[in-house]
Amino acid sequence: MKVADITFLIPLVLVAVGVLALCMASDGQRRSETRSTTSQPDGPSDIGVVYSPSGYDITPLTRTRIDTLAEGLTPEERDILLRKGTEPPQCGRLLNNKAEGTYACRLCGLPLFSSQTKFESGTGWPSFFRPFDPAHVLEIRDAELGMARTETACARCRSHLGHVFSDGPRPTGLRYCMNSAALEFHAAGAELPPESRPIETATAYFAGGCFWGIEDRFQQVPGVIDAVSGYQGGHVANPVYKQVCQGDTGHAEAVRVTFDPSQVTYLRLLEWFFKFHDPTQRNRQGPDLGTQYRSAIFATDSKQLTEAKKFVMAQQDTTRFRDREIATVVEPAGIFYEAEDNHQDYHAKHGGSCAISSGE
Ligand SMILES: [Zn+2]
Repeated sequence: MKVADITFLIPLVLVAVGVLALCMASDGQRRSETRSTTSQPDGPSDIGVVYSPSGYDITPLTRTRIDTLAEGLTPEERDILLRKGTEPPQCGRLLNNKAEGTYACRLCGLPLFSSQTKFESGTGWPSFFRPFDPAHVLEIRDAELGMARTETACARCRSHLGHVFSDGPRPTGLRYCMNSAALEFHAAGAELPPESRPIETATAYFAGGCFWGIEDRFQQVPGVIDAVSGYQGGHVANPVYKQVCQGDTGHAEAVRVTFDPSQVTYLRLLEWFFKFHDPTQRNRQGPDLGTQYRSAIFATDSKQLTEAKKFVMAQQDTTRFRDREIATVVEPAGIFYEAEDNHQDYHAKHGGSCAISSGE
């Protein structure tokens, strides 16, 4: 190597040494911090399983579980995740990571960011413009250091991640400024550990009158992850509400229920469905008249088909229906067309919700 080349390298070496010194000095400072962690329940959760829209279990972990997981952290990770520490800029191992994949919580494994939203912010910390799922990243107002900032924390274990600022790129305009030590990177294609995978879900379809009400009620059933209003059972592709209202598309106002089979069975959903509407009303439900308001169960497979038919037959023999014929049709599910946005979560947005009675 020529002398000129070595001369050129000297400033780079000095910068590298400087950054290393900053990393070490900062590390020492952070050790002396004694900020407490976000409070967490001590006992088992009594709120049931909490799901994120993307299908992950985000039930808050207990203090005991967090303490167990924390045993596997390095002192630096412990300082950042549990004591709201900050790693020095330019030091993080994931700052320049450009590989495709998922960034999960270092403590509990919940996916927090995708490589598709990572960008070079020039700040020295890994930066993202959108979380993997907004329900996975908590935003907490933070007045520490004498300035108002918004802290970010993992929704499942409440570990500190970094901060979010409103000077990010499009489309969100947000900059999630993260500590590398708070994240675990999983390259695309690699098998994710169980704690970083979505739960295994199942789907069921029900039609029982106005879909606003059926959707709203299923949303409240424990074990249901999501309920979506739509159109099903007809012969017109891509129908819109106006067409279905006219009653000649063959479609029923239906609801797609995504559920966690480990928490609620298909049979239990069938039972709820019969509590949510009057299955003896043919092609109507209360004041709503027309085939679009018929009572129907659209089965996703032969197992559901058999179970639903058996359920309806058994219900017919109960005292509730002994003198009234059940009109519910059970048939294989065809294409489900999601309804327009203004029909989704209608009761949640506009009120008028019919709360599920615990007495059933
Ligand atoms: Zn976590």
